[in-house]
Amino acid sequence: MDFLHSQLGKVQQHLAFVAVDPINWKFYVQSIAWTVTLFESYLLIRQYPLYSKTEPPPALATHISAADFEKSQKYGKDKAKFALLSGLYKQVLDTVMLHFGFYAWSWTAAGSLMARFGYGSEYETVQSIGFVLLLFFGSSLPTLPLSVRLPVYLSPDLLKGWALAVVLISPFLWAFLRVFNWAGDRFVPWLMAFFLAFQLIMVIVYPISRLFKDGELRTRIESLAGKLKFPLTHLYEIDGSKRSSHSNAYFFGLPWSKHIVIFDTLIQQSQPDEVEAVLAHELGHWYYAHPTKMLAVSQIHVFTIFALFPAFLHAPPVLTSFDFPKSVAAQPPTLVAFLLFQMILTPLEAFVSIGMHAVSRHFEWEADRFACELQDKLDDEKMNDMGDRLGRALIALHVKNLSTVWVDWLYSAYHHSHPTLTERLKGLESFQSQRRKKTT
Ligand SMILES: [Zn+2]
Repeated sequence: MDFLHSQLGKVQQHLAFVAVDPINWKFYVQSIAWTVTLFESYLLIRQYPLYSKTEPPPALATHISAADFEKSQKYGKDKAKFALLSGLYKQVLDTVMLHFGFYAWSWTAAGSLMARFGYGSEYETVQSIGFVLLLFFGSSLPTLPLSVRLPVYLSPDLLKGWALAVVLISPFLWAFLRVFNWAGDRFVPWLMAFFLAFQLIMVIVYPISRLFKDGELRTRIESLAGKLKFPLTHLYEIDGSKRSSHSNAYFFGLPWSKHIVIFDTLIQQSQPDEVEAVLAHELGHWYYAHPTKMLAVSQIHVFTIFALFPAFLHAPPVLTSFDFPKSVAAQPPTLVAFLLFQMILTPLEAFVSIGMHAVSRHFEWEADRFACELQDKLDDEKMNDMGDRLGRALIALHVKNLSTVWVDWLYSAYHHSHPTLTERLKGLESFQSQRRKKTT
């Protein structure tokens, strides 16, 4: 622990200038944010013409009907147009808010609200929560016209989402600030433990609808899990239509007791042997400990953020640069300092996200190979077409989700955590043929 603190101390020495130098942080944040937005717009402009292609890629030609292809192209085009316009609109809004000191205004407004109820500025935690909620609503309201275009997010769901945000955010912030104030200068390991615990709790309490019915699929999955010694405790099926993420199956739980979750959309669209192949892929993630590795990477990421943070915690020039009054800046409230620090980190975060996607795509590739090689691992002839089955399931899901068929490589590298469908099908084919060469 002491070694850790002395190393962290060295980092702080290098960043000591933050607490004294009057740097124009606001200008820096605005320029970086515009660079990111313009780069993302450029990616969309690269991707856009691909939606006008009239033929699917050769690898997919026999699997996707002309009508489905046309639908997917049209859907992609609409989405891209919307993403381009809404991205620029949000960036203009952010720019205006930053320019006119909306952060500082929210802090002051939360303070005057509290004063009405007789609470002074000594209740920093309460003011911090009020501040975050004001920021949240203040920045959500002007984006409302955007959600009108997507009726799914309209009224009841949107309000529910907001209510949920309030219910979730408040206790989380409260606990975060408590840990922070309690641990003082030595907050790094404690806050990391707090975040890790929070992530684990979210995994355990995450709501899931129903247990799995008996039948061929259940038998197949249980037998596959048994052969691989996967500690399967429960098998769940969830309603995929209500989720925004286009996932198909995943597992979660503790090392000795795991649960598998399958989306009903996958079950409806694919044959049991194809669903089994998707599960083989998921079990590949488990076999190579991919979630644990991802968690380790994200912990390193969180550690880096926390290690850099103290330099920004007691830095009045950062707050004054964002229009906070001198009286607030003299003793920066923890949460204000943390949010401003997050904005300053934007460029780092963009690179981290690209790196994480690269790692994740490598993992997908490993899991696909695992599924293809399963017959050798388990010495089971019946699994010799695992790659074909997985390919069929992936295509069915892709078509159903109207996912984009033609993808620009740079766009994909920046946005996607999974290889494109064409890449995966090619990969599956080459794993299969390598295998056949080995065995003959
Ligand atoms: Zn995967």
